[in-house]
Amino acid sequence: MLWSKQYAEFGLSDIYEKVQNGERLSYEDGMRLFECKNPLAVGALAFSMRLRLHGKNTYFVRNRHINYSNICLINCLFCAFRRKENEEGAFTQTHETILEKVCADDGIPFAEVHVVGGCHPTLRLSWFEELFKKILIARPKAVIKAFTAMEIAYFAKQEKCSVLEVLERLKLSGLSMLTGGGAEIFEPVLRKYLCPNKISADEYLSIHGTAHSLGLKSNCSMLFGHIENFAQRVDHLCRLREQQDKSGGFVCFIPLPYLPQNNELSGEYQEKLAKIFDNAQFKNNSDVHMGLERLRTIAIARLMLDNIPHIKAYWVMLGVKTAQAALAFGADDLDGTIVEEHIGHMAGANSSQALTRTELEQMIKDSGLTPVSRDPLFRKTAQ
Ligand code: SF4
Repeated sequence: MLWSKQYAEFGLSDIYEKVQNGERLSYEDGMRLFECKNPLAVGALAFSMRLRLHGKNTYFVRNRHINYSNICLINCLFCAFRRKENEEGAFTQTHETILEKVCADDGIPFAEVHVVGGCHPTLRLSWFEELFKKILIARPKAVIKAFTAMEIAYFAKQEKCSVLEVLERLKLSGLSMLTGGGAEIFEPVLRKYLCPNKISADEYLSIHGTAHSLGLKSNCSMLFGHIENFAQRVDHLCRLREQQDKSGGFVCFIPLPYLPQNNELSGEYQEKLAKIFDNAQFKNNSDVHMGLERLRTIAIARLMLDNIPHIKAYWVMLGVKTAQAALAFGADDLDGTIVEEHIGHMAGANSSQALTRTELEQMIKDSGLTPVSRDPLFRKTAQ
């Protein structure tokens, strides 16, 4: 741990004091942390905060990802997962196939079924209501976490009803929690370039607020390392923190590094947009994908999001080694076993498709921390 004297050398002694006293950091503090020449000092500060919040406890979940389809009507430029109907590589799974997967590891209990897949042209809300009921019959102890706020808005449009009604129906059919995806970067001008057909930041936050009002929990996220600048990252974190002050249902924040393969954003277009948004990282190039800047962003998220309990190091997108390092930069959760994943891997993630419970536990122990098996709501489960 670095001492306060050293933080004074970085010009951060006031931030150091605030963190030690559990005081909230300002937008300006967030910017100074991004500008600090020593990312390790930022990481150490975030680690001290995670120790205060969780001690050495470090969480993982035995889970199963289900990507029901990659056919989606929304065309986000960064997305490598999406396909048009009839396009090569497009897939839609049936209830039967999904249930086979959910039941495949019979005898090995898992705590979470994570269901995402985009805005499908023909699958209706009732298809998912039925699916969730069937999953819970097959796996009565599992908690269903599903959909981003984008899909919820899409269902409301498809069914010609309110977001509240969609969420009430899904809750009745067994949904416990929304995923955090779809947040990307909130700043509206950048968002229009990045994902022109997606719901706005206000809609994203309002849908999560509505879910929280019904007793549903949710995660939240930020996609970073593409064309955004540091100010837009800090603004994003501040908006999530404001929403959490209002509705209180965010359980975990997931920093998602942008993966550049197989999408419409990468290349010359990304370079042009990065110049528009004065993205210093992109201008210095190659830094964009460097692990240390990812770790710094995770640390700043921990420090800024004082009201969101958990920070996830999502090993699928970060890679296993960076995810493990993130545990020393403020993250306290490694996600889970996953089993089968399409979204990050179609964008170039070179992590494996699955980790075993033993591997996750070992990663945590090797970091000098204590593994804790959890469900999606971060309730401890049997080891
Ligand atoms: S990110 Fe989600 S909403 Fe956007 S194109 Fe991909 S699947 Fe569709």
